[in-house]
Amino acid sequence: MSTSYDAIILGAGQAGPSLAGRLAAAGMRVALVERKLFGGTCINTGCIPTKTMVASAHAAHVVRHAADYGVAAPGDVRVDMKRVKERKDAISGHVRTGLESWLKDMKNLTVYEGHARFVSARELSVGAERLAADRIFLNVGGRAAVPAMKGLDEIPYLTNSSMMDVDFLPEHLIVVGGSYIGLEFGQMFRRFGSEVTIVEMGPRLIQREDEDVSTAIAGILEREGIHLRLNAECIALSRQAGKIAAQVNCSSGPPEVVGTHLLLAVGRRPNTDDLGLENAGVAVDQRGYVVVDDQLRTSVPGIWALGDCNGKGAFTHTSFNDFEIVAANLLDGETRRVSDRITAYALYIDPPLGRAGATDAEIRKSGRRALVAKRAMADVKRAVIKGDPQGFMKIVVDAETKRILGAAVLGTGGDEIVHSILDVMYTKAPYTVVQRAMHIHPTVSELIPTMLGNLAPLASGGHPG
Ligand SMILES: Cc1cc2nc3c(=O)[nH]c(=O)nc-3n(C[C@H](O)[C@H](O)[C@H](O)COP(=O)(O)OP(=O)(O)OC[C@H]3O[C@@H](n4cnc5c(N)ncnc54)[C@H](O)[C@@H]3O)c2cc1C
Repeated sequence: MSTSYDAIILGAGQAGPSLAGRLAAAGMRVALVERKLFGGTCINTGCIPTKTMVASAHAAHVVRHAADYGVAAPGDVRVDMKRVKERKDAISGHVRTGLESWLKDMKNLTVYEGHARFVSARELSVGAERLAADRIFLNVGGRAAVPAMKGLDEIPYLTNSSMMDVDFLPEHLIVVGGSYIGLEFGQMFRRFGSEVTIVEMGPRLIQREDEDVSTAIAGILEREGIHLRLNAECIALSRQAGKIAAQVNCSSGPPEVVGTHLLLAVGRRPNTDDLGLENAGVAVDQRGYVVVDDQLRTSVPGIWALGDCNGKGAFTHTSFNDFEIVAANLLDGETRRVSDRITAYALYIDPPLGRAGATDAEIRKSGRRALVAKRAMADVKRAVIKGDPQGFMKIVVDAETKRILGAAVLGTGGDEIVHSILDVMYTKAPYTVVQRAMHIHPTVSELIPTMLGNLAPLASGGHPG
């Protein structure tokens, strides 16, 4: 016998809990199933704990450079990794327990703790229990991908999840993967005091970004003493006298890196392989992501997929926006769509990268005529005052409509500043609105209008320095 509900939500990630709140408040009988930690990746092994650790690393960096600001901080800077972990656990734990109690106390909501699997398109098993509903919402997220790599089965390795237990300072951390997660961990551990080598198979870091962004980020990391090994084809791992050796076979530099610990940061995979989706007939793509339409409906009527498991986003804000779309369409009589949103995210190295809209490469590919403006942070007084004049900002606009197509702000406050551009993009206003706005001095944002006064054609292969 199944227990029947109006709606069942799988996963207490970044969409499920809020959706449970809306559906339950609308008077539906709702079940939510979570197999591990309430809050999912973001709260437990992703955004919140990593950015808490980035903050600790930033503190170490500032103290190390205190003399530059005229502040005496005598002696070596040493980081107490146990305290760093305690602080991180406290902040993450507070958010997790708050969410868990909110859900467990919610009227009309029953929380199940266990692994959910489809029995049919309308029925799920959770341990010995059977639950049924006409509306099922998947918010099962993803996990670190562990690709077949020569020798990996013979050595211990860390992922973003097991990194959360590290309460010691690795002597030499080898990070395999030069994208968002690898760079954040790489820089923070360098600042904690580890030697760090980042090994990337491609010719440059974070290859989804434009080349000027990758190059500037490589410079920021190298200036802090991080070793970068690019073009690392055929990575092979082995043990070597109690250490870990990575054959990296790069185009330059020694063919081997020997470190004490290895972090794999080579991408994510969706948690859809153990859901019994075949029993429900829900279609997935070649990489296991649930196939959804623009309103997040799967191939089976009555089943939706939200968050990382649908491959339409890989961020907390995309997952939460999925919740907003589904809730608005189901409960508010609206027709909101995934394609209405503008790409936006940040990379939390220090200084951070804030991104909105398309990259130059995507704009060139679209064939539209575009103009670009760029400004080095070294020319931005606020960045100089703060002692971090690294990076740059740039905006690309459509030459005909004058609308902003894309922006990158790599520099102090970049994660926040980019929102002033993102919000204008949502209004679909021409860039001249920002250009004529009076901004506050001294800020980084005050240079955006000035920068827009220097728009030049976006060259087909590059852009002005
Ligand atoms: C190291 C790292 C740093 C990150 N930093 C950022 C950042 O700064 N900003 C940002 O926006 N994003 C960041 N992300 C990405 C962000 O964490 C994810 O995009 C976000 O958590 C996705 O949320 P979700 O709702 O899709 O699923 P998740 O948060 O992954 O939650 C899914 C939940 O479903 C549960 N579950 C899975 N299968 C089942 C099942 N069969 N039965 C029951 N329960 C199940 C899981 O236990 C989990 O709790 C980061 C990710 C990582 C790994």
